[in-house]
Amino acid sequence: MEDKTMEKKNLDWANIGFSYVTTDYRYVSNYKDGKWDEGTLTEDPNVVINECAGILQYCQECFEGLKAYTTEDGSIVTFRPDLNAERMMDSCARLEMPQFPKERFMDALDKVVKANEAWVPPYGSGATLYIRPYMFASGPVIGVKPSNEYQFRILVTPVGPYFKGGAKPITICVSDFDRAAPHGTGHVKAGLNYAMSLHAHEVAHANGFDENMFLDPATRTYVEETGGANFLFVTKDGELVTPKSDSILPSITRRSLVYVAEHYLGMKVTQRPVKLSELGDFAECGLCGTAAVISPVGKVVDHGKEICFPSGMEKMGPTIQKLYDTLTGIQMGRIEAPEGWIHKIK
Ligand SMILES: *Cc1c(COP(=O)(O)O)cnc(C)c1O
Repeated sequence: MEDKTMEKKNLDWANIGFSYVTTDYRYVSNYKDGKWDEGTLTEDPNVVINECAGILQYCQECFEGLKAYTTEDGSIVTFRPDLNAERMMDSCARLEMPQFPKERFMDALDKVVKANEAWVPPYGSGATLYIRPYMFASGPVIGVKPSNEYQFRILVTPVGPYFKGGAKPITICVSDFDRAAPHGTGHVKAGLNYAMSLHAHEVAHANGFDENMFLDPATRTYVEETGGANFLFVTKDGELVTPKSDSILPSITRRSLVYVAEHYLGMKVTQRPVKLSELGDFAECGLCGTAAVISPVGKVVDHGKEICFPSGMEKMGPTIQKLYDTLTGIQMGRIEAPEGWIHKIK
């Protein structure tokens, strides 16, 4: 394999945006006859599968998302990748797919990031190397059943800073569509949860909103999440509240922010069902996930009724800003991290 790791790619890191860029290497491992092969890096970005593959017919697939980036001291690291490995194993179990072992996940991650070192943006650029592990049914099925063959891959692609010129609060609408049924698949990271959310997303955009707030489908009175991020609320006396439900995706960012709030900022944190009708009582609102860490929400619109948070439409609320600064400080190596949170690759 030709060594492409030496020189950094000549990219305008601050302006690359968020779209797929083909990088040099990706990791591939195949599951067949009841076991995973040893796995390898490849330069081929294309996947060739049978026309009747389980992914194409019955959408048997799950994925993860995390980032590699350069810290203040020049190391290349990822943030809590063990939790991505574990969550993917949970997704596989729910979707009747074979689990990719955690140690192998970690090893594959290190290999693919190292091989694409030239694509890891420099410290201070605000850009990161987005990492997408995923698994799909590659073997043919026509009768409805789990496939006998699977492929696990990790692709990486550089992405620009999420917020260019500061984080402006967004406006979201209460959706008329539902995201995930009770006892369904809302808690697993599967493409199927996204396929059905695309229409809701397009409708929200067409109506001038940035995102959807999905409610619990059973009663449509509790807040769940958006298509791809969990909610955070801050009360007027500075308590962090996060919605609790079996059908929201267990965001690693949200779980980390809860820890940061309690152990770094001394805040009270409550994880409980949150009613739509109580939103007007909160002082601040945000969305959290790997991509943005936190996006501030300025306004929620429920069928013409506006719920405006006191933090306003100009900037992040003060508590959410503190949470954001502390977590990103930990990630970038400016603030000491809890044991095991920063995984050094190089
Ligand atoms: C991935 C995802 C999130 C965010 O999870 P992180 O681990 O923080 O990136 C939130 N909601 C949904 C539906 C997701 O798929």
